[in-house]
Amino acid sequence: MRLKDKVAVITGAASGMGQAEAIRFAKEGAKVVVADLNLEGAQAVADEIKASGGDAIAVAVNVMKTEDIINCVKTTESTFGPVDILVNNAGIFDKYTASLDTTLDQWNFFLNVNLTSVFEFSNAVLPSMIERGSGSIVNIASVAGLVAGKGGAAYTASKHGVIGYTKHLSSEYARYGVKINAICPGTIETPLVKDVLAGIPKDLVPTRTFGQVEQVADLAVFLASDEAKFMSGVAVPIDGGFTI
Ligand code: NAD
Repeated sequence: MRLKDKVAVITGAASGMGQAEAIRFAKEGAKVVVADLNLEGAQAVADEIKASGGDAIAVAVNVMKTEDIINCVKTTESTFGPVDILVNNAGIFDKYTASLDTTLDQWNFFLNVNLTSVFEFSNAVLPSMIERGSGSIVNIASVAGLVAGKGGAAYTASKHGVIGYTKHLSSEYARYGVKINAICPGTIETPLVKDVLAGIPKDLVPTRTFGQVEQVADLAVFLASDEAKFMSGVAVPIDGGFTI
């Protein structure tokens, strides 16, 4: 029970990695807020957690909407108490798109969902974490936040931004006992990448495998827990060696 009685909000938790993180966090004793655009999917995850004896609620959140973020934090506080752990996991991906083929609308959409949401959600929970002298934020970035040419112009910029912002937040708030770190998954088998999986050669991955959601969830538990207390502002690759 490495997260016993911790209150954890996980965005994009109706599917893929977020879903695995929600289930895993609950097994470690956390009270989980399954936050997603897809309320039906989020409710199914919350129900699964409760059926296994855990504690969870589903909240409808569009991470592009400030009012949804504020409402999610308020609902969490009134149901479980202040947020101890925030996992900024919600994100979008599309086929590789070069900069010259990216419209301004597409650019803004990627930046809003993948990066601006991390800024807004973090700012919504940080004051309480700082006041209490503890808290953990785990941002799901990507290997596309570490190296270029893997995820298209807007996706790459958004994920590099997540890592830069993670480091910046740490430089400001680690001194108050708040841990802010990022995870950089390589190719993980989720619905998000199902359409492009066949086109990604496994030979590029030293392990010759793609990742599984549970592996990312394990890392997220570690970073959210006290075991990672001395880790601050890092971006940890979990990619089978893809970026070595
Ligand atoms: P997924 O598509 O399986 O799940 C993403 C979830 O986010 C969905 O439930 C979706 O409803 C939700 N979501 C999307 N837009 C939202 C919004 N505006 N507001 C609230 N919720 C929203 O994806 P996944 O593969 O589990 O990806 C999770 C994160 O991991 C993303 O940030 C993604 O960029 C990142 N990532 C994925 C891979 C991969 O190979 N799957 C690799 C690197 C990084």
